[in-house]
Amino acid sequence: MAQPKRRHSHARKNKRRSHHALKVEGLSICPKCTEPKLPHRICGNCGYYQGKQIVKGAEI
Ligand SMILES: [Zn+2]
Repeated sequence: MAQPKRRHSHARKNKRRSHHALKVEGLSICPKCTEPKLPHRICGNCGYYQGKQIVKGAEI
């Protein structure tokens, strides 16, 4: 295996790793209550999906 000629500084290592954070993908906004929800699923906050109330008793 080839070996690195010089060690990288902590700053260089940390700058490289500044892109490594995971971010949340696939979040959509509920059109009724504007809470973030998973796409193609009933809103956990208001219980609505496609303009209809699916889950009763979850009204805001
Ligand atoms: Zn909602």
